[in-house]
Amino acid sequence: MASITLDNVGKVYPGGTRAIGDVNIDIADGEFIVLVGPSGCGKSTLLRMVAGLETITEGQIRIGDRVVNDVEPMDRDIAMVFQNYALYPHMSVRQNLAYGLKNRGTSKADIEKRVAEAAEILQIGPFLDRKPRALSGGQRQRVAMGRAIVREPAAFLFDEPLSNLDAKLRVTMRLEIKELQRRLGTTSIYVTHDQLEAMTLADRLVVLSAGKVEQIGTPLEVYRKP
Ligand code: ADP
Ligand code: ADP
Repeated sequence: MASITLDNVGKVYPGGTRAIGDVNIDIADGEFIVLVGPSGCGKSTLLRMVAGLETITEGQIRIGDRVVNDVEPMDRDIAMVFQNYALYPHMSVRQNLAYGLKNRGTSKADIEKRVAEAAEILQIGPFLDRKPRALSGGQRQRVAMGRAIVREPAAFLFDEPLSNLDAKLRVTMRLEIKELQRRLGTTSIYVTHDQLEAMTLADRLVVLSAGKVEQIGTPLEVYRKP
């Protein structure tokens, strides 16, 4: 686990679009931060900068004590859960879970142990030998979360993980993510445009507007209108 610090972070895309300006956020070890704000305000850009999928053009991002501006995504000790699951279609669920660990040289015994633990937490044990296409949307998203969990990362990054699911499933999965957070206590940054998800999951909310932090506080502080 680790803290995440954003120090005067900015992003100007090649071509000149300024997506993020002067963002300062101190995320405590184990804290669950939810990023909200209107479409185009920079949520996805900011998350991808923490992940290492976009360059940081201004300021500094630290994970724990380490400045990660020039660190490759794979070496940042974070795991990202995407909206579109991003599972490997030709691999079984078990292979999907194990793949990233194999590449990192994790031992076979350790991989099996971590896969079994993740399968238990996410209740996907019965599907381990299926291919992703034989799973429902909710099951696929559980596998995507499982792939993040088995890495035992210092932090999770969630990019609208539930927005492809129907309303009923979104409620169930929201509570499952809450339970996951209670069990693992891993530092998380979660992007959503769903107010209920934001209120249920967040220790603190960050409201972005045109690439800047407009408000930061607990759900009560942010959503209580004066
Ligand atoms: P959000 O996730 O809140 O919808 P984004 O981070 O996707 O916002 O976008 C923030 C701003 O950056 C928008 O003005 C968007 O058009 C711009 N933007 C996003 N991706 C790129 C890119 N690859 N190249 C240039 N501009 C981009
Ligand atoms: P894996 O990361 O499972 O080994 P790939 O080798 O296809 O899968 O990864 C391609 C790139 O995407 C790598 O830079 C990897 O770090 C990144 N990546 C893949 N999955 C995730 C994830 N869940 N969280 C963060 N980065 C990821």
